Amino acid sequence: MPEQNLVLLGPPGSGKGTQGERLNEDLRLPYYATGDILRAAVRDETELGRSAKEYMDRGDLVPDEVIVGVIADRIDSNEARDGFILDGFPRTTPQAEALDAKLNDLGRALSGVLLIDVSDEEVIRRLGGRRTCEANGHVFHVEFEPPQEDGVCDIDGSPLIVRDDDKPEVIRKRLETYHEKTEPLVSYYDERSVLRRIAGEAVPDEVAEQVRRTLATLRMEQDETV
Ligand SMILES: [Zn+2]
Repeated sequence: MPEQNLVLLGPPGSGKGTQGERLNEDLRLPYYATGDILRAAVRDETELGRSAKEYMDRGDLVPDEVIVGVIADRIDSNEARDGFILDGFPRTTPQAEALDAKLNDLGRALSGVLLIDVSDEEVIRRLGGRRTCEANGHVFHVEFEPPQEDGVCDIDGSPLIVRDDDKPEVIRKRLETYHEKTEPLVSYYDERSVLRRIAGEAVPDEVAEQVRRTLATLRMEQDETV
């Protein structure tokens, strides 16, 4: 069976994390949320983790080579022998190039990049409808999980607020950044014929089914080229 080396792309609120966890369960492939593995490397004080920490402590961005190194440490291990799922990296074209170069060194390549497509309006509807309990952080949604009484937490009666991150103008700003960075990345992977689009506005079960079918097709195509 060929390796399944996958990248997930999608805007905030696309349900990418949920799909990544499902893939992790269904395919038994390790799921690497990049922020998490970077923090783990820092915590475990690996050589690259220590290097990453120096940048973080100075308030600088961790350079692409260091992040790619941290990812490569995980990819080049027994747990990822049959493949992996990357989420949160790459975010830019130079990062995608660095990742490709590193995979190439390891004699591997990406087999698929899944773009979970969700419109800006839908992202704003999903994230902008969240209401958070001021006292204990319980989360509701005006449309999908409304509290019994408007503006009041069901669990402890505290006021519900809109967190700064969930304010429409903040969401719009995040989306702008997302489009600016991701669109070149989408073209990059499209040109390399690994990009597959998933209609992410369906309910999670349907999205998961699309992902499953897409991966089955990718595997068939890989088998034909082997
Ligand atoms: Zn509460």
